[in-house]
Amino acid sequence: MKDNHTEHALVTGASRGIGRAVAKRLAAQGYNVIINYASNSDAAEAVLREIEEAGGSGELLPFDVSDPAAVDEAVERWENAHGGEYISVLVNNAGIRDDELMVFMSDEQWKRVLSVDLDSFFYVTRRILKGMLSRRFGRIVNVASLSGLKGLPGQSNYSAAKGALIAATKALAQETAKRNVTVNAVAPGYIATDMTSSLDEDALKRLIPSGRFGRPEEVAGVVAFLVSDDASYVTGEVISVNGGLYT
Ligand code: NAP
Repeated sequence: MKDNHTEHALVTGASRGIGRAVAKRLAAQGYNVIINYASNSDAAEAVLREIEEAGGSGELLPFDVSDPAAVDEAVERWENAHGGEYISVLVNNAGIRDDELMVFMSDEQWKRVLSVDLDSFFYVTRRILKGMLSRRFGRIVNVASLSGLKGLPGQSNYSAAKGALIAATKALAQETAKRNVTVNAVAPGYIATDMTSSLDEDALKRLIPSGRFGRPEEVAGVVAFLVSDDASYVTGEVISVNGGLYT
């Protein structure tokens, strides 16, 4: 945190899983957390309640991260309601997977995953970046994946999106460093959330050196480091959080 003013952190996809853990962690550190989600209002309201019960502050801002008009409209509405303030922390976390071997993959499966997992980064970051650059401070953390580093079979759409997200992280970091805006990524391995609930955990955890799936809080801790002052000279970096799975 730079000073005594309230700082605002937007976490996309904060109603569940990793985003929920990040939202709670940043709220515990004093940020006013803007909880974005697509449609699951009950889950988002529960996250906000948990934050408030713990003494933190937050607010809900639902929009589809893959819809540029919806992104611009929502952020403008937020700015109008918070005259003069800006969002200094952005965690691009919202994401989906829709696995299929490439020979069977439909155009829709390819486009939808690229749109929600990659285009969203561009739409949301472009809009939020304006305030960060003019205030000369910002922290952007992109939630990538092991799949974007290593490539995973059955995930050519998801691996393409996350790999491109990592490349864009490195490019943008060089554009914004002089303005004190850092841009980094985390690359989780297998984390126990709704996204991985259909996977065969017993079979997969035998492949993981730590012998277990990660917890969302273990990703949130690394995100919290990347937005902290301790990480002020870290930018364009990708930190794996995968129990040793990828080396
Ligand atoms: P999750 O439990 O399925 O939660 C997904 C979140 O994203 C929900 O809050 C959902 O909102 C939101 N979301 C989905 N589509 C959206 C859209 N179009 N607009 C706005 N919000 C949207 O997923 P997770 O496991 O926490 O994953 C979070 C991120 O980590 C993703 O980017 C994922 O690719 C990445 N990741 C996960 C793992 C893992 O093992 N879990 C590993 C590597 C990377 P609703 O509740 O409204 O649907």
